[in-house]
Amino acid sequence: MTMTPDPGLVSLAAGLSAGADGPAVESRPTTVLIVDDQPRMRESLGALLGSRGYGVELADSGGAALARLERAPVPDLILLDLVMPGTSGLDVIAALAARELDTRIVVLSGAASFEHVKRALTQGAADFLRKPFEAEELFTTLARVQRALDLERRARFAEKRLTESEQLHRFMIDHAPDMVYLLDPEGCFTFVNDRATALLGWARDALLGRHFRDIVHEQDLEVAQFVLNERRTGDRASRDVELRLRSRLPARGGGVQGEVVAEVTATGIYAVGGTDSRRGAFLGTYGHARDVTERKRAQEMVQYQAYHDLLTHLPNRALFHDRLELAVAQARRNKVRLAVMFLDLDRFKVVNDTLGHTVGDRLLQQVAERLRNCLRGGDTLARLGGDEFCFLLPDVACREDAAGVAQKVLDGLATPFQVENHELFVGASIGISVYPDSGESVEVLIQSADIAMYHIKGRGKNGYEFFLPEMNAKFSSLLALERELRNALAMDELEPFFQPQVDLDSGAIIGVEALARWRHPERGLVEPIDFIPLAEETGLIVQVDRCIQRKACEAVAAWQRGGRPELTLSLNVSAAQMEQADFVEAMLAMFEETGVRTDSVKLEITESVIMREMELIVPKLRRLGSKGVRIGIDDFGTGYSSLSYLQRFPVDMLKIDRSFVNDIRGDGDEASIVNAIIHMARGLGLDIVAEGVESELQLRYLQQQGCHQVQGYIFSRPVDRSGLEGCLAHGMPRADPADRTSRLRRAGRV
Ligand code: C2E
Ligand code: CA
Ligand code: CA
Repeated sequence: MTMTPDPGLVSLAAGLSAGADGPAVESRPTTVLIVDDQPRMRESLGALLGSRGYGVELADSGGAALARLERAPVPDLILLDLVMPGTSGLDVIAALAARELDTRIVVLSGAASFEHVKRALTQGAADFLRKPFEAEELFTTLARVQRALDLERRARFAEKRLTESEQLHRFMIDHAPDMVYLLDPEGCFTFVNDRATALLGWARDALLGRHFRDIVHEQDLEVAQFVLNERRTGDRASRDVELRLRSRLPARGGGVQGEVVAEVTATGIYAVGGTDSRRGAFLGTYGHARDVTERKRAQEMVQYQAYHDLLTHLPNRALFHDRLELAVAQARRNKVRLAVMFLDLDRFKVVNDTLGHTVGDRLLQQVAERLRNCLRGGDTLARLGGDEFCFLLPDVACREDAAGVAQKVLDGLATPFQVENHELFVGASIGISVYPDSGESVEVLIQSADIAMYHIKGRGKNGYEFFLPEMNAKFSSLLALERELRNALAMDELEPFFQPQVDLDSGAIIGVEALARWRHPERGLVEPIDFIPLAEETGLIVQVDRCIQRKACEAVAAWQRGGRPELTLSLNVSAAQMEQADFVEAMLAMFEETGVRTDSVKLEITESVIMREMELIVPKLRRLGSKGVRIGIDDFGTGYSSLSYLQRFPVDMLKIDRSFVNDIRGDGDEASIVNAIIHMARGLGLDIVAEGVESELQLRYLQQQGCHQVQGYIFSRPVDRSGLEGCLAHGMPRADPADRTSRLRRAGRV
């Protein structure tokens, strides 16, 4: 509490202490002003009173007396002759009547009539003496008047002290930091101090007589009732409680409009005595209310921050943990299942790295919003950090329930996000653990869901998966794999294999596709499927691609120089690599440094990457295109199969996915997709390459349809650098059914 000394208060206090002993009534001689026009009367009265110890002053006329009374100190008593020339005694009395001087008048009436005396007394004279009078009579009268004056002075002083003390208390109460109040037994205000206005915006008068329920938030009424108006059987115990009060003031300190949080104390007031000797009748309640709104808000804010993610306003890991703990206890009691869904956005890091944190943050907020829309009552959604979210689905009857939510989430994220003119696609990998099947403790449930999530990530993303016990082993092996892959990059264990692309008309090798291989010191040759998805997930893919591409460029540049200048090189490019800020520069530098001809390079990009990253990569691909680099769409037909993007995209070549080629079995119908793709490519003036060609039948069919560039086991599996050099030296046999066995033998299949 701060209370700056107020000048008013200081003077009040000073006044009180100065007069603490009462007025100095007896300590000085009583002073008498003798007013008489007759010199002898004046002199003799003066001498007489002086001899008795009075302080004497003389005035020879009514005018002189009034003049004297203009200055302080005024005499205690005035002996006033009524009959005087000029200003008479009655004139003097009349003049003094309005002035409330601290003096008493005793009139001297000579021959004057009773009428005069009566008038003098009614107009304010205290007493009278009729001339001639005895000396004793004079002294008695003066003493009597003097006593009356003293009494009145004391009374006046006492009253003044009382007012002052009341003022002081009033001041203290009004300047108290808290609202101070009194309630009558019914709970209506009988007193409130000034703070009530400052605290609640209610005028004092508006509060008086009003019931306290009018100023208490309805949700707190029950507590208020108990504390403020309960006639407790105990003594005058005081109670403390936090109440929300209705305020008419604008909101402060982040508080709620119209609401003040107050710490309210209440003390019952009881009459002394009564029939029960311990306690008299209940008279009401006394108490004070302290404004704790700001403190409360600050506490709430700290609390909120401790349990929420401030970016998305979702519960954070700590709160999720708490809720899950509760839910697990409940599920155990009620013998029901519950599910934990661990969700990780696919490739969020790329957006964050390329478009910046602001865009990343916005995206997360929008994602959170969509996820929120998938919640059902009772579910909890939390952001665990980064691009990781977690759902708590209490009470799922069966796995299908959880699967349904997971699918809803995936569907919800399927449409692109619009962030600052960027159209962004975000997939998600969702791992689901179920209590009690996957685990019984909070930690195990979260971890299992996480492992299941990691599992789906490792298998190509965007989907959901339930936790299975055998995933534990896979999970640790995935972690080990990641470590090993980093090591592989450092130890230079990665290299490109080459698969020839054959022109069916000439039978010549017109190009090669570089495909990554990992020569693992213990496991031997590792296929891309076993490390590319992981590399994409961990971001290592950028390094992997660069390494493979550089080595492939070096090899192809050597072959180009060595007599195969027309040889093309197809490179697989990941989304993450294209999103590198220096993608174009790095590519061109690599071509330059390795000596490969830019117009012999084809970049293979998958449909899904194009769809998702269109606006990030189109400008980059155009720049590369202007240098002669060609762009092909890999796995064409497996993705969105939307042709509209082809117009927006600088594409030169389509690669028919091997699954369609695989469908070609000679009975006609199944091959219609291949047909459609080939015709469409022709219509758009695009090159077409078929991959995964394994059989003579497929080969013939493709050739009939007008696809002349082919890649597949029928000619050769991907082979290492020296293997391809062998192919280049001997050439690929023409696609001729009669040669099939020998061709396959050469390709290493039989
Ligand atoms: P992709 O780009 O579609 O590559 C074609 C895949 O089909 C290769 O698998 C190739 O070996 C395989 N293939 C070729 N002819 C036949 C055939 O007649 N029958 C069958 N069944 N398969 C055939 P691979 O080498 O295992 O690569 C798998 C995928 O891994 C590639 O699919 C590509 O998406 C990715 N990948 C490979 N190397 C790289 C790389 O250096 N960077 C990136 N980003 N991805 C790569
Ligand atoms: Ca490819
Ligand atoms: Ca492909």
